[in-house]
Order: sequence, then structure tokens, then C-alpha cells
Amino acid sequence: MTEPLVFEISSPGRKAVFLPELDVPETELPQELLRDDLPLPEVSEVDLVRHYVHLSQMNHAVDTGFYPLGSCTMKYNPKVNEEAARLPGFTRTHPYQDHRTVQGNLRLMYELQEFLKEIGGFAAVSLQPAAGAHGEFTGILMMRAYHQERGDTRRTKVLIPDSAHGTNPASSAMSGYQVVEIKSDQRGNVDLEELRAHCDDTVVGLMLTNPNTLGLFEEQMLEVAELIHGCGGLMYGDGANVNALLGIAKPGDLGFDVLHYNLHKTFSTPHGGGGPGSGPVGASERLAKYLPGPIVVKEVKEQGSRRAVEQGGNDNPCYRLQMPQASIGRVKAFYGNFGVFIKAYTYIRMLGAIGLKQVSEDAVLAANYLLAKLRKVYPLPYDRTCMHEFVLSGPLPQAPDVHTVDIAKRLMDYGFHPPTVYFPLIVPEALMIEPTETESKETLDAFVEAMLKIAEEAQENPDLLHQAPHTTPVTRLDEVRAARQPVLRWKPG
Ligand SMILES: *Cc1c(COP(=O)(O)O)cnc(C)c1O
Repeated sequence: MTEPLVFEISSPGRKAVFLPELDVPETELPQELLRDDLPLPEVSEVDLVRHYVHLSQMNHAVDTGFYPLGSCTMKYNPKVNEEAARLPGFTRTHPYQDHRTVQGNLRLMYELQEFLKEIGGFAAVSLQPAAGAHGEFTGILMMRAYHQERGDTRRTKVLIPDSAHGTNPASSAMSGYQVVEIKSDQRGNVDLEELRAHCDDTVVGLMLTNPNTLGLFEEQMLEVAELIHGCGGLMYGDGANVNALLGIAKPGDLGFDVLHYNLHKTFSTPHGGGGPGSGPVGASERLAKYLPGPIVVKEVKEQGSRRAVEQGGNDNPCYRLQMPQASIGRVKAFYGNFGVFIKAYTYIRMLGAIGLKQVSEDAVLAANYLLAKLRKVYPLPYDRTCMHEFVLSGPLPQAPDVHTVDIAKRLMDYGFHPPTVYFPLIVPEALMIEPTETESKETLDAFVEAMLKIAEEAQENPDLLHQAPHTTPVTRLDEVRAARQPVLRWKPG
């Protein structure tokens, strides 16, 4: 611990705030509001400011350093998004307002739906779900509604590749379905033979991430979709990796019937630490009517009615809320996480179609650059050109006692956030690296240098790694104890 905490520098009588002299009669405070003992620290304004700024700097953040946390797309979040989200026209509205008085908000939601339709190649989009996992659950419920409406009630199995994110089986299980794991093949694709063996009339559908969590494009994507559709199942797309596809491939064209977007990942909202997120769901023609609602629709106005609007008449609104025809209902109070919509909308409008495509091209380029540099030293289990991320295997042949966790912790000493570790589960000691498109070549080079240095240290001084990190506010934790008996507040020594 470098600096003392505010409790430790407390000095009786010291204050950060000075109130003006009392110019009203003094009255007794109600007894129930008073406590005998409230040991608040007494500090000056500057102490207080330093305390909070210091606390804010104890965590690594994308605004303070490189954050290659695979699968999480920790890109830099442009500050203009925050400006837009803080505009009083947005912040001073309330979800209970009549739709005629919030036409601007509804227009933003409508246009965001339209952008996401275009980007994903879908017939309709609902902005309701609050995160990716929530979108998955929503999509599974829509698939269930589809099968039920057709009287197809034998279907109980959701197929999920063994490389999938843990939320996929969790969402399926929450819907009451049985999860069947599908193996990956030698090249990191869904194993077609294994898939074929499971395709029958009890299949609800397949949940597929493409590019998958190995950072690899599913090479037999079209065959996979054909197999699933052929047995009457549906294709759910986990869109967490859409950052590799913008303007290049549309999930709808690849055969997905329903897919969630992670606005907070692909479309830049600060995330981690619990939110807020947003996981809109896009659906094909077939599934659009089951989307959760309400969604925003735009009314085509008749000729004569234009004047009323120009004269400030809100009696004739353009945008209104509507439930899709066979909607599964609401999955969220009100209309979704509106603040995240504003940020995603701003991001999309700032970049435009050409800019978004470049995002994906640069993200893929950055990942392949790192891969080319690091594979010389770190084992690469699936040797293919990667998409926006890639997965290495931690243990180095020349340093078998050093594990992925040691490499990850040591990276913190070099000022980098560690990659995602021990996921996906099919790679032993996985190190999953996603640089994103927002980092400079210099930053990528510095990261490579640190990784190569760590590989040397692993051989020469493994204990340095076993005990890392050395320079952070807290050093190596007993992670089991930290999870079971967390210390969540400071107490006097
Ligand atoms: C992040 C992620 C999810 C879950 O999304 P949340 O928004 O965190 O709920 C699902 N699948 C993959 C591959 C992810 O990376």
C-alpha cells in the first residue's frame, strides 16, 4: 500500500467543507436520526480528493493501459460517447413519459435497431436485453416459442460446442433444455461428424459463436447451418465476437436465425465490474415476430399531416412503441439500457459504414500481428490465421513449472492487464489474447516485448513469476480464500 487511506490521516477538527453561519433558528434534530458513534474521518478537501483519485488508480483500466482480455473486447471507449449520453435532452427524460414527448429518444432507438439490422443481416432487432447472456436467454425463449407454435414439442436438446462461453449452456439450462456438448475438430471447428450424429428431431437448435472463442472462423459455417436447419433446428448466434465481422460478413447471411450483439463490447461502452451492458437481439424473418418488446416502429405519415409536426405538434408522432406480433413478452423493465444505446449509436454514427469495416480489419490485423510475434515462443495449439483474437497455451516447454496464472500475474508488473486465462476450456492453460483495433503498433510491440521477457524469466528465475505480481497494490492473492472470505471494507488495524 503506497499511500495512507483517508481513515489513517484523520485529524480531529479538520474539515473539507465549511458551512456559512446559521441564519435561521436552531432546532433539535429528531433523535432517531442521531447516532452516538459515527467515526467518520476528518480530513481536508485536498486529502479527500487525493483519497478518491488514489483509489481510482488502484485498478487497471482501459483508460490507463493496454487491456488484452480475450473475448471481452476491451477497446478504448471514445469520450464523445459520454458527452452524447450526458446531453440533458436525454438525461432529463423519464421512461414513464408519453411517447409523444420523447420522439428524439425513440428515433435514436429506431435508428439503432436499423443499424444493427443492417450490420447483422437481420429482419428485426429488439433492444431489450441488458447483456449478452440476457440476449442468449431471450434467443432460446424465442426458439422455444417458434417450436411450440408449430406443435413441435419433442425438441429438448440444445447443442453447444465445447469451445463455447459458459453463458451458452447456462442460458439453455435456464430455459429448461438439456445441453449437449459438441466436440471441436483438429482445426478448432465444430466437428461435423459429431454434429451430424446429434442432429435429429429432438434438437431445439445449435448455439454457435463465430468467430469462435479460439478466435477462429468456423470454416464449415454453411454446412453446419444446413445440418441444423435440415433436422428442423434453429441457429443461435453468440455475437460477442462481431468485432471481427463488421462490414465484412453478416451473421444473418451465414445462416443464423437469432443472434445477440454485445453493444458494450463491439460498440464501445465501458464494461466490466458488472455493467451496465446491452445485448440487443436480431432475428431472421422466421423468428422476428417472437422478439421481446416493445420495439420502436416508425410510422409513414400521410401528406396532409406534416404541417402539424412542423408547428410543434406532438400529436402526430412518427415513432411509437409496439409489441411484435407473437412476442415472448418483456425481458426487461421499460426499454433496455438506454444510456448504452446512446453510446453505441454515437459510435456507429461517428465511424459510418467504412469506419466500422476498418474497425474489424484493424482488430484482425492487430491480433495476427501479435500472434506472428508470440508464436515463436509460446505454444499455439490451433495453428491458423486468427480473427480478432487468438489462444496460446501457457506452459513453455523450457519452463514446465511455470503456469499460465504466473505469466498472467507477471504481466501486471509490466503494466499490462493479463489476457483471459484458462478459457476456452479445450486449450490446456489457455492464454486468450484480444488486442482490439484501438492500440498503436508501439503498444503492441511493448506487449510483445514483455511477453518475450517473461518467457526468459520463466526459464531463468521461475520464482519471480510464481510470486508475481510485485508492483501492484496487492500482490499474489490466495484466490480461493479471496473468493470465499472476501474483505470488502477497510477496518482499523
Ligand atoms: C462476453 C461474452 C458473452 C456474455 O456477454 P455478457 O454481455 O457479458 O453477458 C457470451 N459469449 C461470449 C463469447 C462472450 O465473450
